[in-house]
Amino acid sequence: MKYFLSDKASLKLLENPCVYHIKNDELYELDFESFDFLKRCSESGCSAKKNDFIDYCLKEGILVTKKIDSRRPPLEKSPVPSLRYIELQITNKCNLRCKHCYIADRGTDELSLKSIRDILKEFEYMQGLRVLITGGEPLLHNRFEEINEMLSQFLIRKVLFTNGTLLSEKKLKHLNFNEFQISIDGLEKSHDSLRGIGTFKKAMNAVKLSLDYGFNVSIATMVHPENINDFDRMKKLFMKIGIKEWQVDIPCITGRLTENVDFQMNPKEGGKYLRYGYGTGIHTSSSGFACGLHLMAIIANGNVAKCTFYSDAPVGKVEEGLRKCWERIKPVTIDELKCDCEYIESCRGGCRYRAQLSGDPLGKDLYRCALYGTI
Ligand code: SF4
Ligand code: SF4
Repeated sequence: MKYFLSDKASLKLLENPCVYHIKNDELYELDFESFDFLKRCSESGCSAKKNDFIDYCLKEGILVTKKIDSRRPPLEKSPVPSLRYIELQITNKCNLRCKHCYIADRGTDELSLKSIRDILKEFEYMQGLRVLITGGEPLLHNRFEEINEMLSQFLIRKVLFTNGTLLSEKKLKHLNFNEFQISIDGLEKSHDSLRGIGTFKKAMNAVKLSLDYGFNVSIATMVHPENINDFDRMKKLFMKIGIKEWQVDIPCITGRLTENVDFQMNPKEGGKYLRYGYGTGIHTSSSGFACGLHLMAIIANGNVAKCTFYSDAPVGKVEEGLRKCWERIKPVTIDELKCDCEYIESCRGGCRYRAQLSGDPLGKDLYRCALYGTI
């Protein structure tokens, strides 16, 4: 029997050789023998006797028995640490004015089509896994339809971060994304108090439609004073409708939240709600590093930064290329942190930006301390 690499899978030369199942977002580390076998399957197909490994790959949809014409990205060794995820903030434009928005009023910058194409090409070449298309509201980019068209050329996982209010059925049918991450910041009353009247119904409608169309849907929720009594009911609701990943976070006191004092949470009160999130969506990686080891952000004005929070402290410009910018980011090790608790391996010091806002970039993220019960 001859076997072929499925068009849903892509080989990656990260710190170790891997195969990435794009649709399921699963990353499998391989030994050199298995990698070599899958490489031959990806080139012209490979004949072999069935064994446990082949059976497993067939079951997981990594291998198929029918030849598939699929463009394969180049296999080049990634930098170390590898750049696995990019946040691509394609526009600052947004149709909402959420009270916690960190972008606040940064104008209407947008990344050009050429810039986006160059970024994705280089990202794929660097063995990247997942692009998080974000904004503002990404659907409002002037040339969103062309961006959407272009995405199908790249063998990476594409995730759209959206407020959900513009995700109509007509639009959904044509989107070349693997996943939508939709913001739901509470049940109707509390969500609308943060994001505007009528936004909850629209966003929930987008969640349901996306699920009906077979997309992966994850939900992102910010903890704020109005929604703290909603968490048990939200969890029930999200599980009932089949949400596999729920990211719960606390907005940093920056951007518009600095003025909306009533929507700020103190660490002790807010941190405990972080435990509600489930299904982390993180692939296993080298231990011993703080947050953001494999992540970089490209901001709508063309700056490149550690993550979108650091947009005012860029490491370079997009015209210089991703690799050059990536080499300037020094990963923070957990040994450097001023954390002194037994949960350091799992917490990894929480969010460095939040620690910085509390006065020390190597200090504790007090919201995570509240989650772990160390304050
Ligand atoms: S938080 Fe998101 S949806 Fe709300 S105003 Fe900011 S960019 Fe728009
Ligand atoms: S719980 Fe607090 S002290 Fe412990 S690792 Fe996390 S941030 Fe650091």
